[in-house]
Amino acid sequence: MSSHVLGVSVQCGLGHERLDRSETCPISCPNGLATASMRCNNGSPDSCYNEAMPAKKVRVDFRKNRSERTRIGGWTRKFNEHGFEEESEVANERIGGKCELSRKRTVVGELTDNNTDFDVLPDVDTERLLAGRVLRVHGVSSVVQTDDGRQFHCVTRRILKTLATEQRQPVVTGDRVLIRPASAEDRRHCRHLPEEGMIERVEPRTSTIARMSKQRKHVIVANVDQVLIVASAAEPVLKPNLIDRMILTAEQSGVRPVICINKIDLIDPAELQPLAGVYAQMGYKVLLLSVESGFGLKHFHRLLTNQSSVVAGQSGVGKSSLLNAVDPHIQLRVAEIGNAQKGKHTTTTAELIQLSFGGYVVDTPGMRQFMLWDIIPEEVFGLFRDLRPYENRCHFPDCTHSHEENCAVKFAVGEGRLDLRRYESYLSIRFGQ
Ligand code: GDP
Ligand code: ZN
Repeated sequence: MSSHVLGVSVQCGLGHERLDRSETCPISCPNGLATASMRCNNGSPDSCYNEAMPAKKVRVDFRKNRSERTRIGGWTRKFNEHGFEEESEVANERIGGKCELSRKRTVVGELTDNNTDFDVLPDVDTERLLAGRVLRVHGVSSVVQTDDGRQFHCVTRRILKTLATEQRQPVVTGDRVLIRPASAEDRRHCRHLPEEGMIERVEPRTSTIARMSKQRKHVIVANVDQVLIVASAAEPVLKPNLIDRMILTAEQSGVRPVICINKIDLIDPAELQPLAGVYAQMGYKVLLLSVESGFGLKHFHRLLTNQSSVVAGQSGVGKSSLLNAVDPHIQLRVAEIGNAQKGKHTTTTAELIQLSFGGYVVDTPGMRQFMLWDIIPEEVFGLFRDLRPYENRCHFPDCTHSHEENCAVKFAVGEGRLDLRRYESYLSIRFGQ
């Protein structure tokens, strides 16, 4: 057994603490409610907390926007009765007046390093929970596929939102989570509805793809292994500059880019060798493909197997066709010839689609427009793998490698050690030409 939220304290600006709020023991409490003074409602102090547990108490800030309560359908009501509701204090809490309150909360959990966006990983009773992966998020509710293949509509435990920092959404598509399924008793009145559950813990993320918007990081998908940058050899015409842009975004996210050039049936593949060679020399994997002739599809299938992939690339290059070709179960809509929609969608909500042969793929309009994402001009050079080794070799320490004299990058281009097209691509992305 384990319990986590030890209590809520409210602190004024002078540091005075009040422990006067009710708090609900979120899990495993045999006696139902416990209060902030750590008495359960049977009056037995501490009886519902596991004191032997070598827990770490961590003080965390409340997020300011915590006034909304999380609930869906009959689930939350049922769990109120079972002592799962851990948010009762929030609705009545007032901030302001003479004494500006800063709200702190003590949780028991593990401190994590910050690379993964997490500060604290709350302790949970792992034996009673199911491990799964978030397929998509709709507002306060997420669809989680558990490792045994079932899908649950889940709300998120309030404490996870508390632990969420400014820069981090509590739950995003692709997250590995532990959920508590609603019991048969809870589901008695609503068997026709999908299975429900509550996300109790979000595991540290191995990677995130995030978009900066208004100085805030908006995480779109977590735990992806690779970005499949899909381009077409023709129709639409190959645009290496767009490929470079998408590589930059993948590099920025720390996710491996793989370059997939489709529709090679429309050209002589030898024409692509110089371009493919430049990317391969930089260590990027390049796949030449054709849905039409079937060329390379076995490789593409292998590339996706048991991986979590994001698909990026402009409209009409054949992303849906490629995915349908390797997994007919997913049935993505393929545009009629000449009817490909151009940049019409702006939504960035991501959905993880499970592949029948193992692995996931994210293919959504927001991810497709990967190449349109913001990149800070000063960061561009460092994200060009081939240019980066020349960074400190120029005469001027702040060289932008454009108009400056004695520029090591320009020198290397002149000598043919750096690809001219890549250098021009750098200039156009860096200076927005
Ligand atoms: P998406 O917008 O990137 O998902 O592209 P679609 O999968 O909708 O494909 C756009 C068009 O390209 C459709 O008309 C497909 O039939 C066509 N297409 C897809 N792959 C190939 C290919 O390998 N060769 C040729 N010639 N056409 C293709
Ligand atoms: Zn330079």
